[in-house]
Amino acid sequence: MKHFPIFLAVEGRRIVVSGGGAAAMAKLRLLLKTRGHITVFAADPAPEIADWAEAARLRLVRRAAGPGDALCAALFYAANDDAAEDARVARLARADGALVNMVDNLDGSQFITPAIVDRDPVTVAIGTEGAAPVLARAIKRDLEARLPVGLGVLARAGKAFRRAAEALPMGRARREFWAAWYDRAGPRALSQGGAAALRPALDALLADRLDPAPAAGHVAFVGAGPGDPELLTLRARRLLDAADVVIHDRLVTPAILELARREAEIVDVGKTGFGPSTPQAEIDRLIVHHAAQGAQVVRLKGGDATVFGRLDEEIEALEAAGIAYTIVPGITAASAAVASIGQSLTRRGRNASVRLLTGHDMQGFADHDWAALARPGEVAAIYMGKRAARFLQGRLLMHGAAPDTPVTVVENAARDGERVLATTLARLEPALGEAALDGPALVLFGLAPRGAAALRDTPAAPEIRPLKEAY
Ligand code: SAH
Repeated sequence: MKHFPIFLAVEGRRIVVSGGGAAAMAKLRLLLKTRGHITVFAADPAPEIADWAEAARLRLVRRAAGPGDALCAALFYAANDDAAEDARVARLARADGALVNMVDNLDGSQFITPAIVDRDPVTVAIGTEGAAPVLARAIKRDLEARLPVGLGVLARAGKAFRRAAEALPMGRARREFWAAWYDRAGPRALSQGGAAALRPALDALLADRLDPAPAAGHVAFVGAGPGDPELLTLRARRLLDAADVVIHDRLVTPAILELARREAEIVDVGKTGFGPSTPQAEIDRLIVHHAAQGAQVVRLKGGDATVFGRLDEEIEALEAAGIAYTIVPGITAASAAVASIGQSLTRRGRNASVRLLTGHDMQGFADHDWAALARPGEVAAIYMGKRAARFLQGRLLMHGAAPDTPVTVVENAARDGERVLATTLARLEPALGEAALDGPALVLFGLAPRGAAALRDTPAAPEIRPLKEAY
């Protein structure tokens, strides 16, 4: 982070703008929303600026800025649409002790103005350190659509009610009160009765919450998808945002854990395929322990929780303890991997079924119906298949699979470091050994990557996650 975002108190402080054209106007439109005292220096100001001065919204000095004009100013904008003039006034303003912004000059600026979503007093500031203004605008557009226009009114009513809400014990009770207010009760009251209905609705909600029904713990088994936070479900995001405790596997990426509520307890019960692990019984015990205390627990599993996730053991532990649970589906590695190579898991005329196999199980390498799989056109997504590759290869060839059957290994599908290894059954080993993959990898038996050119034309927002070099 080269720039640290803060919210600066500007009420009653001087903000100076040098310039009277388009650049100055763009800044002034934002600055006029603040309670700062704005002074504009411009020999030839645009008519709007003169109008604002007329309406006493700012002070206009009809000359270029000079020495001492930025004294006592909190902020100074060099916005003259003229690089040389900007450099001159910025130098003067710095000497006067103001923080200086030069329009379209990142290096010359001591601060930058973010893209802003304004639901006063709720303000969202978006910055990309000058790297991608287009992206900042896209995010702003997205948030503008998502944040209800009435959010500011709700927040103001909430702020005035903070004292009253202290009747609730600090911590979860108070948090849930405010969550219920902003998620449901507030918007409902606003749409039904307007601003006047807000205070009575807050009183009613508080009365309801003060009548203490003991909190019941709950566990949500949530599929975290292959790793890219963009591939989480909306429900997964919402649950992460509300969780008291998040218990996660090794496959869950840091970027996804970032989405958990800041105060949430994060417990890593990571297991490596053949390496050290938290015993399953200990995981079961942990989940039950937290939920029994009334916590909202998110049990976060890579991909989909129902695919090679030992979900049933954990559910049985909850059932034995009488704890309620829900299952939230996620995108499984097989779906992410075929998407990366532009293929379908099933295809008319090729394969009407697809197998999800595990390369190893608790007893060692897993046995399957090899003869059925060896038939032409069959497709299988093999999880945990890296170490079992030589075994799989041997079994399949022995049962008559064609040596040139395509096999594609996708490492880190839909996460950082994605790599694709396209080979054939005959070449699977040594190709896999030579590639020395160290991330999670899915073996797609019977599928080859579709032509690379078509894949590169994906409309997926390229600024957010560029396609990794897959080939
Ligand atoms: N529940 C998970 C699978 C857990 S088993 C799911 O639905 O995806 C763990 C195996 O899943 C790994 O050994 C690997 O084979 C596969 N896997 C998980 N995430 C992956 C990813 N991002 N890319 C490739 N393979 C992945």
